[in-house]
Amino acid sequence: MQPYKVDPEKPFKLKKLDANHVGDWEGKKKEGKQEFHELQQELADLQQKLYAEHKHQLLIVLQAMDSGGKDGTIRAIFEEVNPQGVKVASFKVPTALELDHDYLWRVHQKTPGKGEIVIFNRSHYEDVLVVRVHELVPKKVWEKRYDQINAFEKILAEEGTTILKFYLHISKDEQKERFMERLTDPKKQWKFSESDIDERQYWDAYQAAFQDVLEKTSTPWAPWYAIPANHNWYRNLCISTIIVDTLRSFKMKYPDPIPDPDKYIRALQNESSKDGEN
Ligand code: ADP
Repeated sequence: MQPYKVDPEKPFKLKKLDANHVGDWEGKKKEGKQEFHELQQELADLQQKLYAEHKHQLLIVLQAMDSGGKDGTIRAIFEEVNPQGVKVASFKVPTALELDHDYLWRVHQKTPGKGEIVIFNRSHYEDVLVVRVHELVPKKVWEKRYDQINAFEKILAEEGTTILKFYLHISKDEQKERFMERLTDPKKQWKFSESDIDERQYWDAYQAAFQDVLEKTSTPWAPWYAIPANHNWYRNLCISTIIVDTLRSFKMKYPDPIPDPDKYIRALQNESSKDGEN
């Protein structure tokens, strides 16, 4: 999955990324889904260890165009995990209170603590995406944010948070199909909003904004992965592979066993034999 990592040292061109790409898995959707299923199970085991060990923290940032598959990714990849140690933070239009603070204020509060995985469904990157596209603040304000974000993420990383950022790349045609599906399926209509059509008019401006995000904010301490996302099964496979590889690299252990479990086992056994006598 390394080809999808945006290398901070090399030029990156979003226009060259094929949203339909399925790499070596061409014609192998069934096998791909099977592999994903195995990764789902392994992720559940690793997350259990992460929670028990209480040493590492993982932040996963998801960004995409509307209908890009953020919700579906979260649902599929984290289906098997223990909800106690995994949280989702969704960032919507800021409230009045949030707007009274700097744009990172609401974000920092949601970052993971030890033993936790936090998934950002949208994030501080909205402050250089929607905010830039709609000029919600002047250019001289948003253009400083790339460096500020890199510095913010560096603090998180130096203080022990591992950061993975995923941009789910769909094509404009695929977005049209997904909107059509939402409009025609009563179970999906709730996901559609009129603003989706308005935002679609800004497709090119958003792509330019994503190009800058990926180029300016993929860092050694918080890399971006630009994932082809027209095919859900392949998107899930790529993202789960990267997350599982990262968790494996933590080389986690369950906390040390207690010194004399037999003592407690005997006590419990005695208790049940006494109960039996009563
Ligand atoms: P989603 O599309 O993520 O499922 P919504 O339909 O509620 O959820 O959309 C959330 C909206 O909030 C998006 O249009 C997004 O651009 C907007 N938003 C998020 N962060 C900001 C921000 N910092 N400033 C302005 N708008 C924001």
